[in-house]
Amino acid sequence: MRKRTGLLIGLVLVLLLVLVALAIPWRASKTAPATAPRPPSATAVPTAPPVVGADGIGDPYFPRAGNGGYDVTAYDIAVRYDPPTDRLEGHTTLTATATESLSRFNLDLRLPASAVTVNDQPATIHQDGGELQVTPAAPVPSGAQMTVRVAYAGVPSSVSGGTEVQSPWVRTADGAVAVGEPDIAAWWYPSNDHPSDKATFTITAVVPAGLQVISNGALLGGPEAVGPGLQQWRWQETEPMATYLAFVAIGNYDIVRRDTRFGLYLAAYDRALDPAIADAARASVEQTPQIIEFLSGIFGPYPFRQLGGVVPDASLGFALEDQTRPVYAPTFFDDGQNVTVVVHELAHQWFGDSVSVDHWSDIWLNEGFATYAEWLYAERNGGPTAAQTAAQNYARHPAGDDFWRTPPGAPGAASVFNNAVYVRGAMALQALRVALGDQNFFAVLRAWATERAGGNGSVQDFLALVKHVSGKSVDALAQTWLVSPARPPAAPG
Ligand SMILES: [Zn+2]
Repeated sequence: MRKRTGLLIGLVLVLLLVLVALAIPWRASKTAPATAPRPPSATAVPTAPPVVGADGIGDPYFPRAGNGGYDVTAYDIAVRYDPPTDRLEGHTTLTATATESLSRFNLDLRLPASAVTVNDQPATIHQDGGELQVTPAAPVPSGAQMTVRVAYAGVPSSVSGGTEVQSPWVRTADGAVAVGEPDIAAWWYPSNDHPSDKATFTITAVVPAGLQVISNGALLGGPEAVGPGLQQWRWQETEPMATYLAFVAIGNYDIVRRDTRFGLYLAAYDRALDPAIADAARASVEQTPQIIEFLSGIFGPYPFRQLGGVVPDASLGFALEDQTRPVYAPTFFDDGQNVTVVVHELAHQWFGDSVSVDHWSDIWLNEGFATYAEWLYAERNGGPTAAQTAAQNYARHPAGDDFWRTPPGAPGAASVFNNAVYVRGAMALQALRVALGDQNFFAVLRAWATERAGGNGSVQDFLALVKHVSGKSVDALAQTWLVSPARPPAAPG
């Protein structure tokens, strides 16, 4: 029966391929990722009866990410953390505007919540997985502002769920680091956990005296004694930020700071790092201001007022573009200096952080662009041209290679961070550069970064901008490089 099952699967696959082939021209004209309907405007239904806010914001890949019915404008996160026990206690306040008349709404939080108030009135709560249902004492009218305070506590490294097997809250020898994409927020603060709802952040952490706390944006204060053996650190990011880009690193760090023309540079290196890795990490991350200078010459003004980086002694397998201050796993510096990863994470400050995806299906706008920035850096610093790098990568993956099965413009939820999103995604930009010419191509990148600074965008929006700036339709190019699950007929350029 095994053989027959195989034959049946083969027939089904052939049928599926035929269906996909038939569907492709339609998808090209509509462009790649689906977009969900936007919430109704605040003034559209002033007298509508209260409704239950949706448990997801409408992301096609992660249906329960974020929530419906409100828009967060500010987070005031306050946590107290005890490294030996990994216990975190939080009191976080969200300021939000209801976009529907709400009898109930959800927050995303995986640590157990004990109490919630809405506009200072106790609310009824029910928690299931990563969803915290909040029923306010009285419905919140559409368009009204609400202040939601949440008390919660737990052991974040022990909480599972989300897209990864492990908790994204990672303990270190003397602290912890909260860093992850798309999942991290729900392990340390309640939120509307989706990049389409950006907000400002104030982040306060109380930790044992002697430890450092590093986070996003400006250091407002700290270390400040707040009790026997306890110190408080306060950070603030005043530019809109996606929830997954908020991070905290707690431990024994050497902090380096200096003024630059882009703002205050502040970097932190875990004192537990192997000395050779610490030296290589510093030699790389300390080039941040020069790399921002380089990137701003291509993409336009640096979108933030602080800059820096953090290297925790944590067994992370990745670096992440946390806003204003990327976090780098030490393993990137195993073989010495690594400027490429710094270029990648800093390019995300424009593409991903300042201009965030509408939906996770738009991930090419982050990873393809940051990878292409690496190629541009090499091109302008004595390395291969971007065309050569694209050609090398094209040659490396023959037709039939699995690499070509993941289209960067529609990778699927399980492949959001597939290598093809990065490398084929950068090849797509090289193909676009050849089609538009350098002048129009770089004008499009700058226009995207400046016109949407602090906001969001979709692949569809980007392709519309290409057409607007260049006067050229690139539907066929987008089909070939972003949508088709097959090797394009030739290397770009
Ligand atoms: Zn990236």
